[in-house]
Amino acid sequence: MALLVSCPCGNPLDCDHLELVVALSCPKCERELTIEAEDDNDRSYHAVLTVVEGPYWVGEQFVMPLGEDLTLGKGQGNWLSLESDVLAEKHCRLRFSPPGGVEIEDLSTESGTWVGQSSVVKSRLDPDQFFRVGEYRFKLEFQDAFDNKALSQASATPSKPARLPALARIETGTSLTDRLVTNRFQIARRLVLSFAWISAVYHFCVLQLSSDDALRGYEAFFVGLAILGALSYSGRHVTLAHRYLKFLSLAVLVTLAITDIVGARPLPAICALVLASILPLFTTLVPSRVLAVFAVLLGTGSTMVLAILALNSTLALVAQ
Ligand SMILES: [Zn+2]
Repeated sequence: MALLVSCPCGNPLDCDHLELVVALSCPKCERELTIEAEDDNDRSYHAVLTVVEGPYWVGEQFVMPLGEDLTLGKGQGNWLSLESDVLAEKHCRLRFSPPGGVEIEDLSTESGTWVGQSSVVKSRLDPDQFFRVGEYRFKLEFQDAFDNKALSQASATPSKPARLPALARIETGTSLTDRLVTNRFQIARRLVLSFAWISAVYHFCVLQLSSDDALRGYEAFFVGLAILGALSYSGRHVTLAHRYLKFLSLAVLVTLAITDIVGARPLPAICALVLASILPLFTTLVPSRVLAVFAVLLGTGSTMVLAILALNSTLALVAQ
């Protein structure tokens, strides 16, 4: 994805050939922005912030201008204005001043600014390190100005890899229980998303089978679609950060369970309730390892039971 440059005033700046540009000026606030730095080996590089997780902008990369106060928040006039309910108007401030690196400062917010597992007031951010504000997670990278490849960190002080509660992919290399705790949001999300698909198929088949009325077919289709949509949407918001949305999956699953109970389908109702019960275990700040293992087993078990039910009803529908 192309690198984006934004002025500290929030004005996005057009630039087609960033590799040829050292400085840019903002037509709105007339500020002169330096966007390129040089390391000890005279290599030119950009400090780039990548959105690795969040409701919007995942994958977008922003070049950090040098020596400027770069604010992130939900209000207009920030360097990056992020759409989010949990962020403050001005949530945190970043400053890239080579050779010192990048400094990050929380602006006294309720949900905090997180570097690694800890909430920080003011901290240094190293290349390849992640930080999180609200439901957004960013990665800082120093990229070669010519080919946009990450600079080798051989010369830099080796730092412990940042491990965050919510990762875009499942980490490998650490112990299994560590991985479960670290990746719990990702695991919970995948469980809810799998459950959404399986539940949609199951309810579609069951409703199709329950009557030979032609209208029932459309009804079954839309019920399946509604379950898939609601659970998928809510599943994407299983995080620590979001104050209300993190409980949305729980609410959707309980609603689903109630409709299954009313429709005299006890087993899928139990599956939905079991999955709902594990979500609060996952969204605690740092759950114990025992709870994490317990939650994963229960969640996987209930999803598999529903998968068997869905398979049975699909076979029955095919045989009809
Ligand atoms: Zn400007």
